Amino acid sequence: MEYRDLGKTGLKVSAMGFGGIPIQKVNQEEANEIVRTAVEGGINFFDTARGYTDSEEKLGHALKGQRDKVILATKSMARTKDKMAEDIEISLKNLQTDYIDLYQLHNVKTEKDVETVFGPNGALEALIEAKEAGKIRFIGITGHKAEVLVEVIDKYDFATIQFPANFLEDMGEKELFPKARAKGMGIIVMKPLAGGAFQRKDLALRFLLGEDYTTIIPGMGSVEEVQNNAALAKDFQRLNNEEIKILEKEAKELGSEFCRRCEYCKPCPQDLDIPGFFLIHGYFKRYGLGDWAIERYNTFNPSADKCIECGICETRCPYDLPIRKMLKEVHSNLGS
Ligand code: SF4
Ligand code: SF4
Repeated sequence: MEYRDLGKTGLKVSAMGFGGIPIQKVNQEEANEIVRTAVEGGINFFDTARGYTDSEEKLGHALKGQRDKVILATKSMARTKDKMAEDIEISLKNLQTDYIDLYQLHNVKTEKDVETVFGPNGALEALIEAKEAGKIRFIGITGHKAEVLVEVIDKYDFATIQFPANFLEDMGEKELFPKARAKGMGIIVMKPLAGGAFQRKDLALRFLLGEDYTTIIPGMGSVEEVQNNAALAKDFQRLNNEEIKILEKEAKELGSEFCRRCEYCKPCPQDLDIPGFFLIHGYFKRYGLGDWAIERYNTFNPSADKCIECGICETRCPYDLPIRKMLKEVHSNLGS
């Protein structure tokens, strides 16, 4: 496993990191096994969030006795000082540790977020105080809107930036990543598989391992996935021309209008499972799984045609997807 400098922190993190979303879906015993395999495979960077239901707790439990072997990162959507201070305490308790290596402002995306976080009694004040108290070692920031983050990273000397990048999406490379590199920040890549859109996951991850990022954090929800990912980083080889062509073909089929399954559009007032629909529809469109997709779609209740077109979801989608239009397409292809 290759270990890289996490910006100017002095920490060395594995090029393959551990994304903590999928362990929400397994039980504690399985989570223990997954995390044990990751540590044995040389993965030392673990990223989770207050918002990932019990992910922090599961990680904390699974890492008992091996805290010193790993670098722990978490994040909170809190925007005010009080709420952030509260969340830091909860994270420390959940992760069963007395310090967190990297605490990140989670998904800073609007003018209002920026005003509140950096204003008086904003979340940043709580993070700085926690850092001074030794409860956290470094402060990072995450988000999906490059134009917002480009401005924001000048407001404080953040140790890291966490932003999406994958074979399909290089919007960070326009301005954000070059600026972050110039400032000596660590770059943590989220959505390395574009929300699971790539069929050749191995190629998509190897592509990123060959780029100038500190660590990539695919979500890992099984021992097999951890073993595969750790092996990719261990015997890392850059993609050859044939492999690049395979990814280019996949990228062409996906286009830009596809769901990354980040779930920021939820909740829908009609209780529609928006990313669920798009996942099934992706299988229908890309992989020719027609009958299977129709059958699965018909188990959804409510179905996509129950959308009342309020548009709330579209204001939340960081990829500006025309969700209402896409839902109509889903229903017209899969509805009976
Ligand atoms: S536009 Fe449709 S899918 Fe989106 S939040 Fe409103 S009802 Fe739900
Ligand atoms: S529709 Fe947009 S917000 Fe919702 S899961 Fe997909 S990418 Fe995320």
